[in-house]
Amino acid sequence: MNRVAKSKSPARRDVNGSRPPAGEPVQRFRKVLQLELRRGCDDSAVIGGLDQFLRVSGQDSSVAAMLESEAKLAKGYGALGVAARRKWLTALLKAKGTRAKETKTAAQQGRKRAPTQVEEKTEATADPLDAPVTVIKGVKVALKAKLAKLGLHTVRDLLYFFPHRHNDFGDVRTIADLEVGEEQTTIVTVWSATATRFGRRGRTQVVVGDDTGTMRVVWFNQPYLAAQFKTNDQLALSGKVTVYNQQKTIESPEWERVTGEELTHTGRLVPVYRATQGLSQRQLRRIVNEAVERFGSLLKDPLPADLLQRHDLQALVPAVRQAHFPESLEAYETARHRLAFEELLYVQLVVLNRRAAWEEGKAPDFHGDRLLDLYIASLPFTLTGAQRRVLGEVTADLAGTRPMGRLLQGDVGSGKTAVAAAALVLAVANGYQGALMAPTEILAEQHFRTISGLLGNLEVGGRQLKVEMLTGSLKAAQRRTVVAAVASGEIDVLVGTHALVQEGVSFNRLGIAVVDEQHRFGVMQRAALRERSLTGESKTPHLLAMSATPIPRTLALTFFGDLDVSVIDEMPPGRMPVKTVWAAPDQRGQSYNFVRDQIKQGRQTFVVCPLIEESQALQTRSAVQEHERLSKEVFPDLRLGLLHGRMPNTEKEATLADFRAGNLDILVATTVIEVGIDIPNASVMVIEGADRFGLAQLHQLRGRVGRGAEQSFCLLLSDDPSQAARERLQLLEELNDGFALAEADLRLRGPGDYLGTRQSGLPELQAADLSDVKLIEVARQEAIAILKDDPGLKDRANDLLAAAAKRMTRVVSGEMS
Ligand code: ADP
Ligand code: MG
Repeated sequence: MNRVAKSKSPARRDVNGSRPPAGEPVQRFRKVLQLELRRGCDDSAVIGGLDQFLRVSGQDSSVAAMLESEAKLAKGYGALGVAARRKWLTALLKAKGTRAKETKTAAQQGRKRAPTQVEEKTEATADPLDAPVTVIKGVKVALKAKLAKLGLHTVRDLLYFFPHRHNDFGDVRTIADLEVGEEQTTIVTVWSATATRFGRRGRTQVVVGDDTGTMRVVWFNQPYLAAQFKTNDQLALSGKVTVYNQQKTIESPEWERVTGEELTHTGRLVPVYRATQGLSQRQLRRIVNEAVERFGSLLKDPLPADLLQRHDLQALVPAVRQAHFPESLEAYETARHRLAFEELLYVQLVVLNRRAAWEEGKAPDFHGDRLLDLYIASLPFTLTGAQRRVLGEVTADLAGTRPMGRLLQGDVGSGKTAVAAAALVLAVANGYQGALMAPTEILAEQHFRTISGLLGNLEVGGRQLKVEMLTGSLKAAQRRTVVAAVASGEIDVLVGTHALVQEGVSFNRLGIAVVDEQHRFGVMQRAALRERSLTGESKTPHLLAMSATPIPRTLALTFFGDLDVSVIDEMPPGRMPVKTVWAAPDQRGQSYNFVRDQIKQGRQTFVVCPLIEESQALQTRSAVQEHERLSKEVFPDLRLGLLHGRMPNTEKEATLADFRAGNLDILVATTVIEVGIDIPNASVMVIEGADRFGLAQLHQLRGRVGRGAEQSFCLLLSDDPSQAARERLQLLEELNDGFALAEADLRLRGPGDYLGTRQSGLPELQAADLSDVKLIEVARQEAIAILKDDPGLKDRANDLLAAAAKRMTRVVSGEMS
């Protein structure tokens, strides 16, 4: 059905009809060797067998030289087993031929000295799937760079680069039977092809026909295509059938020549890949197709056979092929399920391994102390039930030498900081230091102020507990002082940005590291903070990660799967949910009136400017303009301030202080205020261009208000929201609970989008869908079982699994390009 024609031989085609380069005997010779390799070394590359071919070719001196450089075949090629054939062919192809470089694996490149025997052995067994993408026909420097942008460096990467969807071009019809409005394929003969040029642009128009009729098809902006079509060429055209001038047509169809072999771009379920600039779907498809054709069958399945059986999973080789070029949607689903399971299993192996490695270290154990009680008694409020419960979970962890790895989740305003501060106090009371890392300077400064306020009056060892701050904007001399005091142990708690994990910072006795807005940091930074442990002492610090952005359960089980989770699921008493209203474009004036009214009642307002193409510079400019516009045209009688990321820190601090003190009515800001800012008297949040933000971000922004006793409001402004944007903004009106929002949005869009791809730092999974909790759980159970039998995956039988997990480590840690 999907396949218009099938060919019998496994090595099917010269991809996309490019002809083998004529000329050079060596080139031709190499072609045959490569073909033989591709065919699985079954001596079928040339009629008459390879031995005869070798004899004939060897008469050419350049080929003879190539043969000379390799071990002679005692009894001929035909007498060798498959493994020996492959080894011999590979070695020969590596001989000083013109394209020798291309077949080298990455590991072999850069090696200068002659290989020793041991190395020779590893070379022969080197996995061809680790070969660079340049082994694919036509992939040279430029294409290689583009593929690298997609994280595709090796043949294996290509095989595992799964399409995110397929175009269903499997419906093949005659011209007469084509139905308007549907995606279909038609197999036709070219009558004429003409190009019309308008300067550098133009189009190609082709008249095609079959037994049932003729039609015109047009490719816009591709006048150069015309030269490729000749009268009587057989083409397969796929695309949506439309009507033009009362005739059926397909605009810019996918096309390919009909050669009697399996179709790639038309006439079937055609893969659509995540593309990058300058790399067309057609190119990607051709490249991946060649990878699948030539190398797909070399994939070795890392999953044990019994596991496949237990979960009824497809074997790897057919799964990879079907994932790219499926025979049917069912076949695709079967393949995807297997590949998703595999991928999730690797993720689990990585996070569980990481957890195990983390737990190999010993942490100091902290025990309840008078200081902690004093701290709790000194708080200006009583802890909520949820805060107490979570603090109990944390102190239980801290009482042991198993290093804590805990994710503390709680919606904005749920009071995570008070809990984190308690953990810091406990560390200090036990003679250790604590660190708190925040994603932005503003937030670090605010935490510094809060923590200083909460802890600064406590006494340890007869002196005042010392809290300091370290951010990138400290002057060199200040920085030196702080760094020295941290190293000497004089500073008890250090608050800062990622400056905390930079070179040269080392603690005297770091007992606990707290990371706020954990999802903003890559896994690497989290690891770096853990390693910022004590010089000269073999203790590992405890880790407490906080996140106000609810991390959906699936993510908590995957990328954050190395952490235990605590949830503060209760708000401090007296909090009223923020009333959220999406204001239609014509309600802008009303919104401003509302703001003015609230300010008259003594409240303050944030105005957040839209994200513009994720560019800080552009957002800054729009904030400056918006500040000016509002000051001059809308609120000339009110006091407005401006805050954006490009301002010097002292200025930022001064503005925030002004706003906090009530000297400003309105603060026009960029998303620098997104996290953590805590100003109880601000009760109105106006968000311009709300449709441009992710839901999580909007919820975070909204969380900046509703911190005081007054009813707070969030006004979402958007000049021209799409239908989808409206639906999302409506979700925000309806749901006040960040977790419910997260789940809803995860269903709507997917995890990366929810967290906002820009800062999510989430790795891209190729096959797995992170909304599939069941599959994730099964994969986790299997991973636990595998690691129970073989903790470090050291068993030879698990070599493939270990290698796969290692590759996944790079993905999970964001080390991919
Ligand atoms: P988040 O979880 O968003 O980090 P914070 O720790 O910043 O929340 O707390 C938000 C606000 O709530 C702060 O002003 C804090 O002082 C206050 N707060 C925290 N816990 C309580 C509590 N149990 N009762 C009353 N107010 C609290
Ligand atoms: Mg916070």
